[in-house]
Amino acid sequence: MKKQLFTIILSFCLYLGLAQQKSISITIDDVPNTTKYQKDGFTPVLLNLLDSLDVPFTIFINEDKILQTDAVNRNKELLESWIKTDKALIGNHTYSHPRYSEEGFKSFVKDIEQGENLTRQYAAKYNKGLKYFRFPFNDIGKDSIQHTQIREYLKSKDYIIAPFTVESSDWMFDFVYQHYLDNGEVEMAKAIGEQYVEKTIALVRFFEEMTKSLYGRSVKHIYLCHDNAINADYLGEIITRLKHDDYKIVSFKESLTDPIYDQEDHYYKKWGISWLYRWMDTQEERVEWMKQEPDLSEIQDAYQQILEN
Ligand SMILES: [Zn+2]
Repeated sequence: MKKQLFTIILSFCLYLGLAQQKSISITIDDVPNTTKYQKDGFTPVLLNLLDSLDVPFTIFINEDKILQTDAVNRNKELLESWIKTDKALIGNHTYSHPRYSEEGFKSFVKDIEQGENLTRQYAAKYNKGLKYFRFPFNDIGKDSIQHTQIREYLKSKDYIIAPFTVESSDWMFDFVYQHYLDNGEVEMAKAIGEQYVEKTIALVRFFEEMTKSLYGRSVKHIYLCHDNAINADYLGEIITRLKHDDYKIVSFKESLTDPIYDQEDHYYKKWGISWLYRWMDTQEERVEWMKQEPDLSEIQDAYQQILEN
């Protein structure tokens, strides 16, 4: 009897331990970055990094990037390398990355379908499905009519809309990072890279606290970033830091098993905000939380300054 009780207590503790396990999945948009690929002498630096880290990740593809440089065949091979990687799940991110709210339903759907050609071909070759769809700019439409229309279409095509909980404006950090690298200001670039790591960790912690406050527990987070130079150089450090903070790096599929993702998206505007905000009932509640987010004004200012010069 004592032994039985002990086993019960032990399994309960184990369950609690598992339930408390913090986890996050890595999702990468705008794959493949063919411009950078060419610049790097046709070495897929980010893909190689992820391979070496041996963590699962999910990619969202824009096939028009194949034609962005003249090395079309090599670019196709690059896309194939991403898709065939064991640890990669794949998603459609449209062909040419338009804004749905501006593009309109018909033309947007055409772009989604155009974005499936090579991806489906390679996916079939490596026995993978193409289940996920992520909106460019996470723009799901300008009003509830556009939202409903595209949701129904995606459902009819068996696509799952890819959500995220955390992003850290990596594209903005990358823009400033690139600027310094192109100018040969390596130390400045390095400082931006370090700032990107710090702000990303701060944002993960912020959303962690937010979910604990809203849901009373840690949820399975999804991090959104891009196929760019700053991630090729710093995503490794971010993943190390996340592990140090007791995060398990899980697959996107695993993240989606968290029941929070079954909630309804109440946000009928075009802005690409975190799903944690979309699930809130009122705009007041969203704004209240947004005001508490870690400050990104330093990088925003640097970005603006470069644009203006
Ligand atoms: Zn994108």
